[in-house]
Amino acid sequence: RPRVFSGIQPTADSFHLGNYLGAIRQWVEMQDTYDAFYCVVDLHAITVGHDPNRLRERTLLAAAQLLAAGLDPERCTLFVQSHVAEHSQLSWILGCLTGFGEASRMTQFKDKTQRQGVEAATVGLFTYPVLMAADILLYDTDQVPVGEDQRQHLELTRDLAQRFNNRFGETFRVPEAYIIKETAKIYDLQEPRVKMSKSASSPNGIIELLDDPKVSAKRIRSAVTDSGREVRFDEEEKPGVSNLLTILSALTRRSIPELEDAYAGKGYGDLKRDVADAVVEFVTPFRERTFALLEDRETLDGILARGADRARAVASEKLRQVHDRLGFVPAK
Ligand code: ATP
Ligand code: MG
Repeated sequence: RPRVFSGIQPTADSFHLGNYLGAIRQWVEMQDTYDAFYCVVDLHAITVGHDPNRLRERTLLAAAQLLAAGLDPERCTLFVQSHVAEHSQLSWILGCLTGFGEASRMTQFKDKTQRQGVEAATVGLFTYPVLMAADILLYDTDQVPVGEDQRQHLELTRDLAQRFNNRFGETFRVPEAYIIKETAKIYDLQEPRVKMSKSASSPNGIIELLDDPKVSAKRIRSAVTDSGREVRFDEEEKPGVSNLLTILSALTRRSIPELEDAYAGKGYGDLKRDVADAVVEFVTPFRERTFALLEDRETLDGILARGADRARAVASEKLRQVHDRLGFVPAK
C-alpha cells in the first residue's frame, strides 16, 4: 500500500476548523487505502515561545482530538514526533543540503516573523521546513495531506529528496502534496483574506473545535461579510460569504452551486444560521469524544507508545541507510 504521512502542531489547546477541513478529515479518509503515519509534531511547536506544562497538555489534547476525529490506532500509526529521535537526526543532515537562500524564500517564515521582525525569530523557526522534510522523507511517503499553506514546504521537501538522491544515490521517495482544493484554505472569520490559524487568528476569527459550541455559533453569526445581499461564491468580491459557503459545503457535503441555488432570495442571516447549525452538529460529539479519551490517560499513552515503536522501526532503518550513503562510519 502507498504511504501517507502528515503532522499537526500542538500550538494551541484546540484544533480549528481549518485544521480539520484542510487536513485531518483527509487523514481519516486515507487510513484504509494507505499505510498511514500521523504525528503530533511537538518539535515544531517549540520553534515559537512555549510553556512546558502547556505543551505537555496540548500534545495529549492533540492526540485525543485526532482520535476523536476518527483516526483508529488499529488502522494507522499515531505518534509524537519527539518520541522518534530520527526526526531531529535527519533534520540536521537535510539542513546541510539546504541552501540558505533557498530556506530564506519560505513564505511561512516571512509571514510568521512579520509582526515581531526576523531579529526576534529563532533559528528553529527558520529551519522548520527542513525538519518537516525530515518528518516526511523518513517514511518513504507518497502523499502528504496538508492545507494550501504547506505547498511550498512540500516543494522544498521534494527538492531535498531529489538532491540527496542525485548526490548520494537513490534513498528517498519523492512525496506529493495531497491538497483538496475546496477546503485547502479556510479563512479567518474576521479577516476573510487571511487563513484561520492556531497561533495568529484573533479570538473572534477562529472556530476552535473544543470551544463551547455556543461560542462558535456566536462567532459565525458575527463573521464579517460584505454590504451586498446575494449569497454567491466569489472569493474576490465576497471573501467572507465564500468562506462560509466553503465551510457549509464541506460539512454538509452539498456542492457550492447547490447551496447558491438554495439561498437564492435568502439573506446572509440564513446562511450564517445554517453554518452555525452544521458546526454545532459536528463539534458536539467531537468534543465529547475528545474529553472522554483524555480521561483515560493510560490508554492514550499506550496508543502513542505503540505508534512510536512502529514509526521508529521504519525511521531507524531509513536513517541507517542515510548514514551509510553519507559515509558515516557505523558504530560497532
Ligand atoms: P500555527 O498557526 O501554529 O502554524 P496552524 O493553524 O497553521 O497553526 P498547523 O499545525 O501548522 O496549524 O497545521 C496543521 C495542518 O492544518 C496543516 O496541514 C495545515 O496546512 C492545515 N491548516 C492550517 N490552517 C489551515 C486553514 N486555515 N485552512 C486549511 N488548512 C489549514
Ligand atoms: Mg501552521
